[in-house]
Amino acid sequence: MLSYEVVEHGKPLQARLRETPKPQGAEVLMRITRSGVCHSDLHIWEGYFDLGGGKRFHVKDRGCVPPFTVGHEPFGVVEGLGPQAAGVKVGERRLVYPWIGCGRCPVCEAGNDHLCLNTRFVGVIRPGAYATHLIVPDARYLVDASGIDEAWAATLACSGLTAYSAIAKLPPLAARDWVAVLGCGGLGMAAISMLRAQGVGNVIACDVDADKLARAREQGAAAVLDTRGEDALARLKALAGDAVAGVLDFVGTPATAGLGVGALAKGGHYVLCGLFGGEITLSLPPIAQRAMSLRGSYVGSLRELQEVVALARSGRLAPSPVEVRPAGEVNRSMEELREGRVLGRVVLDFEHVDPDAPARASA
Ligand SMILES: [Zn+2]
Ligand SMILES: [Zn+2]
Repeated sequence: MLSYEVVEHGKPLQARLRETPKPQGAEVLMRITRSGVCHSDLHIWEGYFDLGGGKRFHVKDRGCVPPFTVGHEPFGVVEGLGPQAAGVKVGERRLVYPWIGCGRCPVCEAGNDHLCLNTRFVGVIRPGAYATHLIVPDARYLVDASGIDEAWAATLACSGLTAYSAIAKLPPLAARDWVAVLGCGGLGMAAISMLRAQGVGNVIACDVDADKLARAREQGAAAVLDTRGEDALARLKALAGDAVAGVLDFVGTPATAGLGVGALAKGGHYVLCGLFGGEITLSLPPIAQRAMSLRGSYVGSLRELQEVVALARSGRLAPSPVEVRPAGEVNRSMEELREGRVLGRVVLDFEHVDPDAPARASA
């Protein structure tokens, strides 16, 4: 198998040839065809999350030590089955749910693998999908997404699922209520489509990039806001007629958190998904007086992914912008993502890997 691995934090990924693993027990060997590039891959690549105030969380403290293969938006073909594997056949094309827990604790048994304390997340704890092959611990983590574009399907495993689960945490919305989407990258675009598919018309897309805002409007946002400038908060509240009932923050900086929390109407919910980093100071009385809800949302459950895929297959969800690139362009793609130059999602093509690439990589 060929994989593109983090060999040193922050340095270009390197192509490596390794022996293709044999599935054991209930495991399934997938041959990867499409692999989405997510912003959180950048943090693992760089080796830390910025906790603000000079504090950092290092991924090596969670067992993520180079050489390591990232990538948690895998789509592929079943290529091999362990002796106890059941529920799929060789040759079937499946989306992989990557947020796999221990499978044995009460949290996992309740269907919340993504909140397990002993995770086996693909591309975070286990080897990920920037590779031609991937071992999945059990066939129940495979989702049938037939009927939709496979590159788009791959992105549903993280960006689609994260957006869907965040939206599920919003309060019931009245007709006059607005939802502000902060950050119009892959996650924000997915959220705008999903809000529209769920009948929410009053969506304000917020970003600092005019191209992304134009794209967000095409995706169905009713209003857009360029958040540069001192008066962004006032302009956001004015656009929404002081009725921002929900904020989905897909950036997660002190600036976006301040904007999102500041814009909330009474009883509103601010949902944080973005992991950009930093810290904020909040005055406590207004949290009570304005009956605000401040909550986090992290990826989503297997059941939610099945719901997202069903929504996509129903045809009611506008596909998010996806650009498919050869797998060998992984380093360029991560650089562009770091610089904020990617519109929507980049998905790597591992189905048509250059047959000479492994030879060159090992040379
Ligand atoms: Zn992700
Ligand atoms: Zn568990």
